[in-house]
Amino acid sequence: MKLTFHGAAREVGRAGCLVEHDRRRVMLDYGVKVSPEQNITPLPVQGFLDAVIVTHAHLDHSGAVPTLFHNSEQPVFMTPPSMPLIDLLVKDSLKVNDLKGLLPIFSEQHVKRMMRNVKQVMNGEEEKVAGKMTFSFHDAGHILGAASAELNVGNQKLVYTGDIKFSASRLHNPAYDKFKAVDVLVTESTYGNREHPERTSLEKQFVESCTEICEKDGNVLVPAFAVGRSQEIIEALVSNDFNYSIYMDGMCKSAAEQMMEHPDYLRDYDEFYRAMKQAVWITNDTQRKQALDEPSVIVSTAGMLSGGPALSYLFKMRGKKDQAVFFSGYQPSDTPGYGLLHSKRLKVEGFDLDFSPFDIRYFDFSAHADKNELFAFVKKTAPKLTLIQHGEEAQALAFAKRIEDELGLTTVVPTFGQKIDVDDYV
Ligand SMILES: [Zn+2]
Ligand SMILES: [Zn+2]
Repeated sequence: MKLTFHGAAREVGRAGCLVEHDRRRVMLDYGVKVSPEQNITPLPVQGFLDAVIVTHAHLDHSGAVPTLFHNSEQPVFMTPPSMPLIDLLVKDSLKVNDLKGLLPIFSEQHVKRMMRNVKQVMNGEEEKVAGKMTFSFHDAGHILGAASAELNVGNQKLVYTGDIKFSASRLHNPAYDKFKAVDVLVTESTYGNREHPERTSLEKQFVESCTEICEKDGNVLVPAFAVGRSQEIIEALVSNDFNYSIYMDGMCKSAAEQMMEHPDYLRDYDEFYRAMKQAVWITNDTQRKQALDEPSVIVSTAGMLSGGPALSYLFKMRGKKDQAVFFSGYQPSDTPGYGLLHSKRLKVEGFDLDFSPFDIRYFDFSAHADKNELFAFVKKTAPKLTLIQHGEEAQALAFAKRIEDELGLTTVVPTFGQKIDVDDYV
């Protein structure tokens, strides 16, 4: 078995791992690195593919799949909830691209062709991929429909985690972690060298901070990703008896509708539904004005303030008293959110605005496993070869060193485009 890292090598974003065996070629994920400018694509594929397996809907795993349909067609395997979410996110990325006036990397025609070739696979079902290669999905606890892929390649077993979370969140159960006799593990390492705060106290602190702002008649804007994070934040507020109005705006509404369509993929549907019912789903400008005219929390896309309604709220909040922005996700250094969080300046769409009177904070509601959870998983799985991807270089290297030092397992942190012949290690 040979594995080539087309992306997510010593970086977060543009995942793409090509598996080759016995003249068969299968791509695991094919995403983009979301950027304020043109999204960055993975290394292109030379020749034909037999199949694509997509672990989840986030664009860093799915955003370049339509480019694989320029001159060819192949089956694309994904879980049932991933299908509508990928359709939603990929089409939205086309729209965003258009608004920015950038050349698209694929057209709506390619998206159609991709969707026509989707094969839905439920968690735990074994499926033929290509030749004698088979695989099954297992719940990854990350977002709706997110799965790890377990592949039987020749007489070897490969586990590809995708993005994974081993502790329960409001929305999802912990990831499946009972893999047996694993030869090769390809694991994410987003938080390979970082710890998360304990979730219950984080939620309490978040809700108390929102209440403090609202008690002063202020507003809290929570920029959040459309799938998962937005709904998680609202559920945290409602479950902790938050007493003020909660508004949701942007693509998180369509994502929430998809979650309602797939109750079996949620930890506690009733709790989720109760939270969604309590929030005001904004559909018009009168509601947008009302949201800022009363003390409130407004949860809206984009999570990194690269666009979307969150940005319009922020512009309107300037000049008002007791305003806050509480980030719910990690802000990479090249995003407008990073600038606002670290220097209280927003540089976006040609503006450079000062937000120094604002209360601006970050609450770590991550949907990824942290360093100790990842380490415990590798220890339990005990693969013959561990390949570490989907983490910034420092995170990935620190994680690899810990595995080698404390477990004595063979570990490689692939570089961009590196081809690894598993037989050289196993
Ligand atoms: Zn993800
Ligand atoms: Zn990812």
